[in-house]
Amino acid sequence: MHDTPLGLYIHVPFCTVKCSYCDFNSFAGIDDMQTEWEAAALTELSLWTPRLQGREISTVFIGGGTPSLLTGESIERILDTIRSNFSLSADAEITLEANPESVQPDRLQMYRAAGVNRISMGVQSLDSEELFFLDRIHSADRAESAFTEIRSARFDNVNLDLIYGLPGQSLATWQSTLERVLKWSGDGPDHISCYALTVEEGTPLAARVAAGRVVEANPDHVAEIADWTAERLVQAGFEQYETSNYARNGLSCRHNLIYWRNQEYAAIGPGAHGFIDGVRFHVVRSPKAYIDRLRGAHSTSNEVEGLPSPAIAGAERVGDLENVIDTLTSGLRLMEGIDETSLPAAYQLVRPVLDWAVDNALAQRQEGRILLTRRGHAVANEVFVRLLETVNP
Ligand code: SF4
Repeated sequence: MHDTPLGLYIHVPFCTVKCSYCDFNSFAGIDDMQTEWEAAALTELSLWTPRLQGREISTVFIGGGTPSLLTGESIERILDTIRSNFSLSADAEITLEANPESVQPDRLQMYRAAGVNRISMGVQSLDSEELFFLDRIHSADRAESAFTEIRSARFDNVNLDLIYGLPGQSLATWQSTLERVLKWSGDGPDHISCYALTVEEGTPLAARVAAGRVVEANPDHVAEIADWTAERLVQAGFEQYETSNYARNGLSCRHNLIYWRNQEYAAIGPGAHGFIDGVRFHVVRSPKAYIDRLRGAHSTSNEVEGLPSPAIAGAERVGDLENVIDTLTSGLRLMEGIDETSLPAAYQLVRPVLDWAVDNALAQRQEGRILLTRRGHAVANEVFVRLLETVNP
């Protein structure tokens, strides 16, 4: 198992405002915790050192929240700590998530000098009404100038996150957003993630939908936007390598590929999730509890599965069948599909679901691999629900 890539995820919980649709573990108004968060994160990294001895980290993803709220010095200390505590591959992909309003040229220069080599910016839309609806605080102009600043700081691997399928969004409005970003700085970004808006339980958006103040977009209309997007981005030279993700020049997100291929990743920071040596775990969500648990912590073993950080709030060893289902539900999102011959014996228990998908033209078999068809990608959840029902009938 150890010859597969290992990722490291670092969760930064700070945001300037909390967006109405967001269910990530992010908080506005706690910026005064940044120094303590960093101290806790550095401690947590050092606690992981013995556990990852002999492993090479091939990707680091600093996600959030809004990591671009952190100073260049803070990112430098974090990456220096990673380099001095772990074996980081020479060509490691090191991503930092950013939002347009907090991107700053001098910080970007420092991030780059510290070793960050990929920026993923949350643009979501260039339509002012849509940005207002989403509670995003940047303007279209600011998003474009932030992109120019990112390119000026010598980042040649840049992702933009966009959201479609907003209530009342026309195909033309979405087309306008996508066409504009494709022209930014001449030839646009290297990678685009296009996600359909989902109404997550417990968010202000869900409350507005429940109260009848917001009507969700029609699924057929959302599917029409998705189809147009796939065609347009392929025409623009992108490869669709995952249901919602497109890359140019082979610049697929290596860190996210680790998730989709059900490979291993360590994780630190409040609310972060990890998967290591067959154990899935999550870190305590509250930033204050996170800081408290790590204050003065030193080499210790968590009671749950012997994990090294006292900030880990829960962990569970994944059984064979559950692991097969995780591999299928994440890997089938990839256009490359899954090598069926590499799956363990437990696969036979769920194989009938895949046979059903093949019989119904939702999946196909090719040279030992199983992959979803175009129609299968559109209704992937139907396949995944059937797979999950195998474990929880
Ligand atoms: S900026 Fe991103 S992480 Fe922060 S609240 Fe908005 S959607 Fe959530």
